[in-house]
Amino acid sequence: MSAQYEGGCQCGNVRYQVTGEPRQVVACHCTDCQRQSGSAFGMTMVVDEAVFRITRGEPAIYRSVSSSGRAKIGAFCADCGTRVYHQPEWRKGTISVKPGTLDDTKWLQPQLHLWTRSKQPWVIIPEGVESHERQPA
Ligand SMILES: [Zn+2]
Ligand SMILES: [Zn+2]
Repeated sequence: MSAQYEGGCQCGNVRYQVTGEPRQVVACHCTDCQRQSGSAFGMTMVVDEAVFRITRGEPAIYRSVSSSGRAKIGAFCADCGTRVYHQPEWRKGTISVKPGTLDDTKWLQPQLHLWTRSKQPWVIIPEGVESHERQPA
């Protein structure tokens, strides 16, 4: 049996399904992620594009370019504004699901922390978890 994860926006008008194991769960502490999440860091669950599909509604799409010059597509619910996923143009074939939108978030734990030089001082990265001050090359 293959893995299956489901999630959706806050109002429920956009729903999605992931039918494969995520590649990685990442916490990014860069100032772009802090701003876009309105929180201390952004979380991403990287999945292969082939195992991700929208099962309800149609997300609205925008394109943005980060301060490091990399562009991504952002998909959000036009009714409630919840950001559902990103599609980075520099990482073809993958979808960056915003994993706080999963129905079950209990298992979520970042395996990688990025841009820790701008992380909030009270965020303590567990010992042994990979972290980088910036984006590794
Ligand atoms: Zn919604
Ligand atoms: Zn970031």
